[in-house]
Amino acid sequence: MSLQNPRFRKINDSFVCENCGHKVPPAEKSCRDHCPKCLWGKHVDELPGDRNANCGGGLQPMRYELHSKKGTMIIFACVRCGVEKRNRFLDSDSFEPDSYDALLALTPQEPG
Ligand SMILES: [Zn+2]
Ligand SMILES: [Zn+2]
Repeated sequence: MSLQNPRFRKINDSFVCENCGHKVPPAEKSCRDHCPKCLWGKHVDELPGDRNANCGGGLQPMRYELHSKKGTMIIFACVRCGVEKRNRFLDSDSFEPDSYDALLALTPQEPG
């Protein structure tokens, strides 16, 4: 019996952004799941990196939140099923950091 459940294996690979067509490199440390240029993601994860969601809809970046512990979080809404997702803004990724211009175009979330 293995303690490692392959269903929870994190997948960190490059992909082509379906919103802007940018070739997105894998992230250095965490799981790259959104485009660094336009910040759009894809609803493929239930938990970050598990690729267990069956939806496949586009995740539109809506708001951002300055979190004291986790750093800057982007809040997405799936255009297909409407679920809200949040992911960390990758400002120090060595392959390709996320665009601050794209982040600042979003609505800041009041800390609550
Ligand atoms: Zn993009
Ligand atoms: Zn969805």
